[in-house]
Amino acid sequence: MAGDSTPADKPARARRQAPEPGPAKLTPMLAQYLEIKAAHPGALLLFRMGDFFETFFEDAQTLARVAGVTLTSRDSKSDNPIPLAGVPHHALDTYLTRLLNAGLTVAICDQVEDPALAKGLVKREVVEVISPGTATTPELLDGASGRYCLAWRPAADGVAGWALLDATTGEFRCGSERASLASLCQRHAVREVIVAEDTDPERLHVWRAALPGVVINPVNTAWFHPAFARRTLLDHFQVATLTPYGVEEAAREPAATAAGAVLRYLGALTLRRPAQVTSLQFTAPGDRLLLDEETLRNLEVFRTFRGERGAGTLVHHIDGTITPMGRRLLERRLAEALTDLDELRGWHAGVAAALEAATWRADLRAGLRRLGDIERHAARAAAGRLGPAGLRQLGTSLDTLNELRGTATQSGPADHPVSRWLGGVEDFGPLAADITAMIAPDAPATTRKPGYIATGVDPELDRCRAVAADSRGFLAGLQNRERETTGISSLKIGYNRVFGYYFEVTTRHLDKVPAHYQQRQTLVNAGRFITDELKDAERTILDAEDTGERLETELFNGLVRQVADRLPALREAARLVAHADLMLGFAETAERHRYCRPECDDSLELRITGGRHPVVEQLLGSDFIPNDTALDGEGHQVVLLTGPNMGGKSTYLRQVALIALMAQAGSFVPADGARIGVTDRIFTRVGASDNLARGESTFYVEMSETAHILHQMTRRSLVILDEIGRGTATYDGLSLAWAITEHLSSASGPRPRAIFATHYHELTDLERDLPGLVNFRLEVKEWEGRIVFMHSVVPGRSDKSYGIHVARLAGLPEAVLRRAQNILATLTAGDERDHDARRPGGASLAADGAATPTGQPLAVQASLFHEPERDALKALRDLDLERISPVDAFMWLARLKNSLRDL
Ligand code: ATP
Repeated sequence: MAGDSTPADKPARARRQAPEPGPAKLTPMLAQYLEIKAAHPGALLLFRMGDFFETFFEDAQTLARVAGVTLTSRDSKSDNPIPLAGVPHHALDTYLTRLLNAGLTVAICDQVEDPALAKGLVKREVVEVISPGTATTPELLDGASGRYCLAWRPAADGVAGWALLDATTGEFRCGSERASLASLCQRHAVREVIVAEDTDPERLHVWRAALPGVVINPVNTAWFHPAFARRTLLDHFQVATLTPYGVEEAAREPAATAAGAVLRYLGALTLRRPAQVTSLQFTAPGDRLLLDEETLRNLEVFRTFRGERGAGTLVHHIDGTITPMGRRLLERRLAEALTDLDELRGWHAGVAAALEAATWRADLRAGLRRLGDIERHAARAAAGRLGPAGLRQLGTSLDTLNELRGTATQSGPADHPVSRWLGGVEDFGPLAADITAMIAPDAPATTRKPGYIATGVDPELDRCRAVAADSRGFLAGLQNRERETTGISSLKIGYNRVFGYYFEVTTRHLDKVPAHYQQRQTLVNAGRFITDELKDAERTILDAEDTGERLETELFNGLVRQVADRLPALREAARLVAHADLMLGFAETAERHRYCRPECDDSLELRITGGRHPVVEQLLGSDFIPNDTALDGEGHQVVLLTGPNMGGKSTYLRQVALIALMAQAGSFVPADGARIGVTDRIFTRVGASDNLARGESTFYVEMSETAHILHQMTRRSLVILDEIGRGTATYDGLSLAWAITEHLSSASGPRPRAIFATHYHELTDLERDLPGLVNFRLEVKEWEGRIVFMHSVVPGRSDKSYGIHVARLAGLPEAVLRRAQNILATLTAGDERDHDARRPGGASLAADGAATPTGQPLAVQASLFHEPERDALKALRDLDLERISPVDAFMWLARLKNSLRDL
């Protein structure tokens, strides 16, 4: 699949691709095929032959497998039949979609001269190479979502340069940050990643395994050379410096390099200058609230745990946008939320005012509903790929834009951002008028069939059409006349590309054919003839048709050029529409789901009253129990959350993170009230046991991701940990969870706002020792021997897990449950003894555990961990003989011996 066509295996593939057909059998056409194929070894070659695109050899097998077409063979009777499979040229887009979705890169080889005029073999050339991340075929586009090709250049210091290019819209951004490739792919809808060919194969392998839906293609390493990449950018933008794009300074070289590489790649594939790319933006990591891949996954922002888009994801449930541009901006906002207070307050005020102005909002949304994807249509025009139907749609959209501008500015709330945005859209009236006047209302998607230019646009075109139409009438009349004069009632006029128009007479009537008929072809049961009169008519028809087609093409191309010339203005219009649509969409969602306006400030507070989970709430309706949250970075810096299985801990944790994220995306939030001190990062980590769906619940992954959080978090971060430490033996896990909790609230650390849900009830003791830690629990009631989950978060600690109750609900056999109950009773008794032993020593397990002659923790550890020998050895190892008197040493030894006595 994807791996089949990576340039990395070019040579091997090329060799396999060209099995020696033997000099005697190599027809000129096959020789031409093999030569072209050799120049594009990494791509599946679609080779135009008449009305079909054919594939041969291994490509034919791939096409048959992936696109479901029949595999046949050429020279089937020979010793070396050549596998062959083809698709009709008019259905190319459909098959392309299947091939690209399977991760293949496809080279389109077309006939570049008229076969009728060709002397000998028709000249053929590759006119375009399309890869999964650079395709602009409308059928392929996944609704409104973006479709990015990402260039990725990791450096030794861990900082990677990246660039994202959406060939369908021309959006082009770059940056450099300490992020993983997977994070970027999760954050944006990346379909294809290009890396330098000199990338370590082991690394490539790891990336491919981690990113199953993304094609990773190694490309020419030189494209990633800083000087080469810089030159690519300068040449493309026709500038002498990269300052306007913010990537001139040396520190931003990795970003500029990645940008140059991806632009070069797009140019190399499409064999033309990517004209839809008119600008480049640099994104500095600190400007936005960036979510890492794990957090995006845990919060199910774009995909559910099962990797599905749509229902169950945050973006699906809060999307109130109408246009594809608005939808793409929403996705971007969630991936890169805002951190600037003024900007955030501006958004919330705008949403509030739009919420009030219901009629104005409804009018604008009705207008937005009539807008097509202006951004993609304009980009397709610039790339020379916009068809008549698309152009007509763009014309209608531009007309609607004019109306919207009026509605937004005339009747809206004073000085509203939406009025400013829509009022700032340029006037495209004349262009819209040209398009609507020139393109026929029912114009087809492509220019393959004439008739897309409206009647009345060009007198010469109308004349040609009339002549062609008349001649067709003339031919019908001629056929009737000839039938009468010759007495051949079955005589008919036919047409083919070689002989043009002819009279066809069945063999039975050949003796009646008049003398002035000139024979052109003899078939098994018919003869074909021409006359001077027929040839005259033919010339008139074909001339008129040719001239008509040429005129249509010229008029159409002229109009497309007019659109392309306005590309920067059209992209700006699309940007403004996206903003307006998103703000009105936020208001709509807020109204529909009763969201409130969050108050954002630069405090460290995170206070939510009556908070709800935006997705679960929509599924449960009024059964959802709202909950409060109070974090303040000081006395309530870490909330330790305990509660039974199924109590609602995970839902609550995610709800808090999602509310913070939504607020910083500029949206209202599912709560009665929310005060949110702006966060710089939101980290979430779900313990291995809760994450089995990913099939990677290894303890190592859990710990490495926790390490990432502990290294990256700042005072302004929000850290959400769910059941960390469960992926290993109980006591290892408890110790780690304990130490991590202490680290989160350690006075010498960054002390982020944090919520930690855990089943280790022992941790609740920390509330006494850590001033910033408070215990909360999920309430549960026991009633007639059953448990009732209240789903409400209340202060205090939970002392029971109710795991066995939950197992009963899940239908575990009664015998197993009874046995579990007995085991639990025994274990709990043991635990209580441990607990009693631990209390006097204080909770300072991590005070570092080293037993000193004067301290007590040795006994604490011994009782807690049940591993006294190991602890005794460690204590012995740590004992400082230089600093201990003989008497103390004796006492210490006695205590040590005591602690081991019962074993
Ligand atoms: P576990 O410890 O087993 O992972 P948990 O405590 O994390 O469980 P959740 O998975 O969050 O529990 O929730 C369990 C069930 O309770 C879910 O089906 C969810 O729909 C429901 N639930 C959670 N929170 C609420 C709420 N606030 N109101 C109503 N139902 C809720």
